[in-house]
Amino acid sequence: MMQFPFNKPHFTGREAYHVAAAGASGKISGNGQFTALCHDFFRQRYGFGKVLLTTSCTDALEMTALLARIEPGDEVIMPSFTFVSTANAFILRGAHIIFADSNPYNPNMDVSLIESLISSRTRAIVVVHYAGIACDMDAVMELAGRYRLLVIEDAAHAIDSFYKDRPLGSIGHMGAFSFHETKNISCGEGGMLVVNDAELAPRAEIIWEKGTNRAAFYRGEVDKYGWVDVGSSFLPSDLAAAYLLGQLDSLDDIQQKRKHIFDTYHHFLMPLQLSGDLQLPYIPDYASHNGHLFYIVTQQLSHRDRLIRHLNQQGIQAVFHYLPLHQSPFYKNKYTGRPLPESERYADCLLRLPFFYDLDDEQIETVVKAVFGFFN
Ligand SMILES: *Cc1c(COP(=O)(O)O)cnc(C)c1O
Repeated sequence: MMQFPFNKPHFTGREAYHVAAAGASGKISGNGQFTALCHDFFRQRYGFGKVLLTTSCTDALEMTALLARIEPGDEVIMPSFTFVSTANAFILRGAHIIFADSNPYNPNMDVSLIESLISSRTRAIVVVHYAGIACDMDAVMELAGRYRLLVIEDAAHAIDSFYKDRPLGSIGHMGAFSFHETKNISCGEGGMLVVNDAELAPRAEIIWEKGTNRAAFYRGEVDKYGWVDVGSSFLPSDLAAAYLLGQLDSLDDIQQKRKHIFDTYHHFLMPLQLSGDLQLPYIPDYASHNGHLFYIVTQQLSHRDRLIRHLNQQGIQAVFHYLPLHQSPFYKNKYTGRPLPESERYADCLLRLPFFYDLDDEQIETVVKAVFGFFN
């Protein structure tokens, strides 16, 4: 057991209170009262249009692909430096993925490259706000408007993070969030679909309820419910929603703590960026961060791997992140696009430091000292 694990889920205590209440209520299947309370919370706090809790962000992304009516041969543009679910959701519908490279200054998709990747088959752009740091959404939305494309925000990292003053997940036509245990707010496995385009909202609810209009039936809008469209079982049990509500009770506290951890790492590691040893997260003026994760980028792969070993030897678990999807065993023989040097550089040189709610200042100092120890 590492003295400093990479992640440790934060248990506030409120989760157990709500889960017990859900159990005692006699209704624990999906779309119950705790699901409704979570939906209300997110709508009120962030002004989202339609919100639907899902069993994972992966499921929320699969719903976006169904809602976008992606068909075999359609093209979807997305970064290569992301999690497999971003791509799988569209691969399952037969899409052809067009990967874009990352920015030199942060791992987000280089928005200036998107236009050159658009063809007559392009249907959607999927942005990933890496580390909860926003992509340049005005530029993405302008392009999407001009070419009539859908924009989907993979906001798995991005709860409570903003572009200018707009919450991430509220800007594209749809957004997908994760409540996996490695994310800021969690119920073990969980997620949320946000539908900002009002025209897509009624169908979202049907797909969510296995292709039936049961949600409308429960609201008394129809007198019986039946099979009206495709769908699947995307809704989580109310026990998961109750647990999530316990986390939402403490959202401000959790966010304050996590932003403090991020800012502390950033402040103390700055000399290593100034000396050219490391690249630190870059937050453009239009973005704010949400303390999702803290990464550093070394000059080369050998430094990164040696630094991980150096930290491991001191009981500090540091981990690399995505292998670029265009080089993955599943996709490398299908990939015919351009080289993606920045995505490959982040795959080779990026590492993430221990990051969790209970990490205190003294522990952060220990990690920072260990990083300095490597470079001195
Ligand atoms: C975590 C993550 C996902 C998947 O989230 P799950 O809730 O585990 O399905 C998707 N995209 C990105 C960028 C992620 O980091």
